[in-house]
Amino acid sequence: MCVKTEGPIRINKQNQHYKELNMSKVGFIGVGTMGCPMASNIVSKGNDLNFYDPYVQENNKTKLLNLGAKHCLSIKDLVQDRDFVITMLPNGTNVKDVCFNNDSLLQQEQKNYIFIDMSTILPSDSININEEFKSNNIFMFDAPVARLVNNAIDGTLLIMVGGDKEKFDTIKPLLETMGSDVIYCGSNGSGSKMKIINNYMSIVSNIVTAESLSLVHKSGIDLNLAINLLTTTAAGKGHLNTSYPMKVLNNDIAPGFKNTLALKDLKLALEQGEIDGIDLRTGKSALKNYEDADKTKYKDLDWTSMFNYIKEINNLD
Ligand code: NAD
Repeated sequence: MCVKTEGPIRINKQNQHYKELNMSKVGFIGVGTMGCPMASNIVSKGNDLNFYDPYVQENNKTKLLNLGAKHCLSIKDLVQDRDFVITMLPNGTNVKDVCFNNDSLLQQEQKNYIFIDMSTILPSDSININEEFKSNNIFMFDAPVARLVNNAIDGTLLIMVGGDKEKFDTIKPLLETMGSDVIYCGSNGSGSKMKIINNYMSIVSNIVTAESLSLVHKSGIDLNLAINLLTTTAAGKGHLNTSYPMKVLNNDIAPGFKNTLALKDLKLALEQGEIDGIDLRTGKSALKNYEDADKTKYKDLDWTSMFNYIKEINNLD
C-alpha cells in the first residue's frame, strides 16, 4: 500500500501523460540524510515519486508527502508501474537485502524498470548485484554521489556512473535532477570504484591536513597566515593541481625536486613532530615508501615519480 497527501506539485498520473512530458515514475528506497533531499529534488522537478523506508524519520516522510510523493509500505507496492528504482542506503548489506531478501526487488513480478544504486558500496558488490539483475533482464547502474548534504539539497551533487554506455542517456536526465555533474565512468562497478578512489584520497588527506595544522598550532605561527601560505603550494593546492601535470603525467620524471630530498624533509618534519609531542602517523607511514624508494633508481628522480614507484611495487603495468 502506498500513501500520499495532495502536495503542491501533483501532475496528471496517466503513464502516457508522463511520457509525453518526459517525466519519470520513480521508486526511491532509503530516504535518510542524503536520500530525502535527493528524492525531494526528483519530485520537485516534476517527476512522480514513490518512496519506501521502513525506518523513515517523521520529518523526512512529512517533507516528501508535502511535495506530493507517495509513501509505500512494501517494496512490492513501491515498484508497481515504476520506470526507475533508486536505492540510497547506508551499506552493501542493506543494498543486498533490498535486492535479494524478503519482499525484495528481484522477488517482484514487475521488472520493467531501470535500477540505479546510488549508495556507496564495494565495487565487487555493485558488479555481483548487476549480474543478478542482468539475468532478470533489468538494467542496473551504480551511481554513487560525492559532495555533502547541502549539495544534495541544492541538487549539485557529483554523480559517478557505472553501467551500459548506450543506456546512460536514458538515466542522465533523472540523475541531473539531483546532481550538477553527472559523469559516466565506465562499465558496471566503475561508478563505485571512482567514488571509493575519490574518498580514499580525500579521507587520507584530511588526516595529513589535520596533522599539518597541528604542527602550525604548536609552532606559534598565525593559523590564517599558515593557511594562506599553504594554499599557494602543492601542500594546499594538491599534487593533481600542481606537480603531477607538469612532471610525471607529462612523462617527465627528471629531477626537479628529488625523492631523496623529499625523504630528508619528511624526516625533518617527523623530528619536529617528536619535539612538539605530535604523533605524525600519516607521515610515518609515508616514510617507508620514501625510504624504500631511496634504495632504488627512484632516489634521484623527481618526487612525482613516486606514482611510477607505487605502480612498480604493486606489479602494475
Ligand atoms: P542515512 O543513514 O542517513 O540514510 C539511510 C536511509 O536508509 C535511512 O533512512 C534508513 O532508514 C534507510 N534504510 C536502511 N535500511 C533500509 C532498508 N532495508 N530498506 C529501506 N530503507 C532502509 O545515510 P545517508 O547519509 O543518507 O547515506 C546514504 C549513502 O550515501 C551511504 O552509502 C553513504 O556512504 C553515502 N553518502 C553519504 C554522504 C553524506 O554526507 N551523508 C555523502 C555522500 C555519500
